[in-house]
Amino acid sequence: MRIDVLGVGFDNVTMEEAVARGVELLHSDGAHYVVTPNPEIVEVCREDPAAAEAVNGADLVLPDGVGVVKGARMLGTPLKEKVPGIEFAAHFMERMAEEGKSLYLLGAKPDVAAQAAENLRRQYAGLRIAGVHDGYFHEDAPVVEEIAQSGADVVFVCLGAPKQEKWMRKNGAATGARVLCGLGGSLDVFAGVVERAPKFWSDHGLEWFYRLCKEPRRIGRMMKLPLFLVHVKQERRKK
Ligand code: UDP
Repeated sequence: MRIDVLGVGFDNVTMEEAVARGVELLHSDGAHYVVTPNPEIVEVCREDPAAAEAVNGADLVLPDGVGVVKGARMLGTPLKEKVPGIEFAAHFMERMAEEGKSLYLLGAKPDVAAQAAENLRRQYAGLRIAGVHDGYFHEDAPVVEEIAQSGADVVFVCLGAPKQEKWMRKNGAATGARVLCGLGGSLDVFAGVVERAPKFWSDHGLEWFYRLCKEPRRIGRMMKLPLFLVHVKQERRKK
């Protein structure tokens, strides 16, 4: 059973359990997709029913950050731990490398996706990169066809939320891949273009503040964070 946080149902899993579940999906027939919502995306889902449908329709819904974990605790239905998408991806790639599976990278700016592929190939010996495509295309069909032709087992879909969730819901099956993961700005991190917050900040639940200092243009999006807390408090009162 999923744990509901303001209309988004989260799987109550540890990182280890999430990765095990991802591997299980990799070995199951058909296409599956994984999403990693943070409070900002939960707020987007409240306003956009198609986004909510795409997020809740995923086979695995992981709490990307401490905000969702705090929200769940405040609502009296705690989640085991945060499972950041980018860390899930790292563990998942280790398992894929062990099994010689292939990965397609979709998203980010053209040079970024290619650089991410080069870095990942070096970092995860055994991981096969089936192909890359930047995230600035206008028609889905040629991209879907390219992924299908590549024979990729897994696709990292990094188009930003909720675009990537809607994209996976609509196109996942046609790619022929077993697992698609929506991972936001992860390719920028894998390419070394954007740094993740140092451990101190994320350990103290302040990754958002670090990112805000580095990228002040995110302020508009980040205003959704206090709104999320207000909505959680309202929901708690109702309960
Ligand atoms: N992006 C893309 N196509 C688009 C819009 C965005 O490929 O049409 C990429 C963008 O280049 C970035 C990622 O999607 O690499 C979104 O990053 P952001 O930091 O906004 O995502 P978050 O990790 O916060 O969800």
